[in-house]
Amino acid sequence: MSNQHDLVVIGGGPGGYVCAIRAAQLGQNVAIIEKRTTLGGTCVNVGCIPSKALLDSSHKYHETKEGLEAHGIQVKDVKIDVKKMMERKTTVVKELTDGLNFLMKKNKITVYNGHGSFVSAAPGKIELKVEGADGKQTETSIMAKNVIIATGSDIIRLPHIEIDGDVMISSDDAIALEKVPEHMVIIGGGVIGLELGSVWKRLGAKVTVVELLPGILMSMDKQMRDLATRSLGKQGIEFLFEHKVTKAEKKGKKAAVTFEDKNGKSSTIEADKLLVAIGRKPYTDKLNLDAVGVKLNARGRVEVDPHTLATGVAGIYAIGDVIEGPMLAHRAEEEGVKIAEILAGKPGHVNYDAVPWIVYTWPEIAWVGKSEEQLKEAGIAYNTGKYMFKPNGRAKAMNEADGMVKFLADKRTDKILGAFIVGPNASEMIAEAAIAVEFGASAEDIGRSFHAHPTLSEIVKEAALDVNKGSIHQ
Ligand code: FAD
Repeated sequence: MSNQHDLVVIGGGPGGYVCAIRAAQLGQNVAIIEKRTTLGGTCVNVGCIPSKALLDSSHKYHETKEGLEAHGIQVKDVKIDVKKMMERKTTVVKELTDGLNFLMKKNKITVYNGHGSFVSAAPGKIELKVEGADGKQTETSIMAKNVIIATGSDIIRLPHIEIDGDVMISSDDAIALEKVPEHMVIIGGGVIGLELGSVWKRLGAKVTVVELLPGILMSMDKQMRDLATRSLGKQGIEFLFEHKVTKAEKKGKKAAVTFEDKNGKSSTIEADKLLVAIGRKPYTDKLNLDAVGVKLNARGRVEVDPHTLATGVAGIYAIGDVIEGPMLAHRAEEEGVKIAEILAGKPGHVNYDAVPWIVYTWPEIAWVGKSEEQLKEAGIAYNTGKYMFKPNGRAKAMNEADGMVKFLADKRTDKILGAFIVGPNASEMIAEAAIAVEFGASAEDIGRSFHAHPTLSEIVKEAALDVNKGSIHQ
């Protein structure tokens, strides 16, 4: 095996492996360095995929227990086998990581297992080394014309809370619990906290979300955020907004969690599990960036030119969670494709205005583009179109009538600037709005397009028609 490559990607997550495949398709000799024993990164191993496997299992359980009676289906003695649920999750992850191994072989991509780091960099000649888990060097010298840093992110910890994986836990632990906790306290009302809180709430845990800010998902449109908060609250998730956790102590098999409200009033509650879900930070440990002159910004993210993803050091680029931007798998993937295409002399492209966001709670929460608050702040005049799930035939047939679609379109041109969905299957429905934003479509374009009847997508059509007050079933 030759250690000389056109392109070496450090990190085999969705950014890294997608970049490697696209570059190989375009004729490059490509290698990936990955320190995990499996490819797929955070997303496939401990993120998007295992969390969705558990969300789907817990949704089925909850629906069987509480959602079937209205359909005339009676089920007695519904039980959850957490061990089996976890085994299924592990199988889902394994099938996907095995699939990635197949894709590496198919595209003739060399995979080096171990921790990659820079040795030196001269134009067209970048030297890297790889160390195994025991710290022993496994590859002395890998040479590359170009290198992509796709090393992703890691959990943010709180200085006063030591994660022990048992009582004080991170998302990595919350996707692998052996039994349903009685009471889970979650620090952080972001996407990860809401999704994992939903899993354990549906399975029977009491769930309390402690959030420093005045609400969940603060970058989302306020009206839709409030709607989502109400829906999650109705399911029994307890929210303590504008509360700050000041202390958390382990007391045997429990955590005593002390927090202060905005007036400084302090209280303590006991929890079986304290999940710290306050976000993720870029991961650049032991990459030896100083040796080649790659810079980090004040937030510890690799500094790149946002248009070219170049670090400023000839031949070294960075993508995904390790640079500024939304920490999402599909964003990392698109940047991977973009840079592979730029290196092959093609015009790579990522439209950051069209990145969809999804929270896989029930109802699901999804959006793309700007919120009303952001448009007001930017001084952009807009029209609003809304349509509820309730009157829609398919939503009624499904007995899933909780939610709303909202469009924001430019007042002058009718171009769609933002779309928000709270409701069942929002994760799939948002794709239409994301494509509309990508194509620069108007609300009228969506409103005049066929949407099969009866489908939930008709709610999207009606909301788009409502922008110009032409909704038929409003
Ligand atoms: P990563 O996926 O983090 O991959 C980086 C890889 O680089 C890792 O495998 C790491 O081991 C490796 N690495 C790091 N340093 C080195 C080194 N020096 N040498 C060799 N290898 C190295 N996003 C979504 O879009 N949808 C979701 O539903 C979603 N759900 C999530 C749920 C959870 C619980 C979590 C934690 C995250 C979720 N995310 C989701 C976020 C998503 O996982 C990340 O945005 C995505 O994985 C980023 O991709 P990446 O390729 O930039 O980095």
